[in-house]
Amino acid sequence: MPIVTTNELLIKAREGNYAVAAFNTNNLEYTQAIVQAASELHAPVIVAATEYELHYMGGYAFVAMVKAIARDVKIPIAIHLDHGPSYEEVIRCLRYGMTSVMYDGSLLPLEQNIANTRKIVEAAHACGVTVEGEIGVIGQAADAHEGEGAAIDADLVGLADPDECVQFVQETKVDSFAAAIGNAHGLYKRKPELHFELLDEIYGRTNTPLVLHGGTGIPTEDVQKAITKGVAKINFSTVMRKGVIEALRASLDANPNELNYMKLLAPATQRMVDIAKEHIIMCMSEGKA
Ligand SMILES: [Zn+2]
Repeated sequence: MPIVTTNELLIKAREGNYAVAAFNTNNLEYTQAIVQAASELHAPVIVAATEYELHYMGGYAFVAMVKAIARDVKIPIAIHLDHGPSYEEVIRCLRYGMTSVMYDGSLLPLEQNIANTRKIVEAAHACGVTVEGEIGVIGQAADAHEGEGAAIDADLVGLADPDECVQFVQETKVDSFAAAIGNAHGLYKRKPELHFELLDEIYGRTNTPLVLHGGTGIPTEDVQKAITKGVAKINFSTVMRKGVIEALRASLDANPNELNYMKLLAPATQRMVDIAKEHIIMCMSEGKA
């Protein structure tokens, strides 16, 4: 079934007042679980990978895998680069055949972020690929492997400035963008406080679909409120990783003598299906394919 650009999905999501869930994948089982969950709920979905995840899977293998799995279902799927770190990496991803790329220049001075993003938008749009930008720094909350010591409070993360967002969108022509509104990646130490007035102002002034990163652990009511205010794509990564690792550990512990690899993986894959479904429902995209 159709492999589409992210923005084809996001435009419909804005019209229908829901968001499209984007899940990062690490391998075959992850991808099967994401696509199965979305297909069973008849929801559009975005399968994403960071540079690090692409390095693990191989860029061509990632794209070929998603396309092959998509053949068996009837939902629209976008193949997305998450947090592209450079012009070069984005160009490689265009060559791999992705339909959607993110360029994250949020750590750069605004003018440099704009210049780089604009160059990427020109190249991607020439290939019919849509682009997500980032403005304001979406930091890292505590991650499972880093422990509390490495945690940064979401409050300390730099919030996006609405004037800069307007300038960013006008000068880069990005299709969507991630704006820091109190969200963070990883596991939140405490309930994240999303700045809804800021979200209202940013969407009101840019009229461009917004992407919420760090979806793991944001309460459902806040996710859904953010959707009504312009968020059209929500990224989930940590929640899947945590779930699959816990399920895999339990499966290995429960079956110490099992030599059938597929049987050992099956409960972990099923856990990912369940988690993906839960978050698709949270995004209100069930039945929207
Ligand atoms: Zn992110």
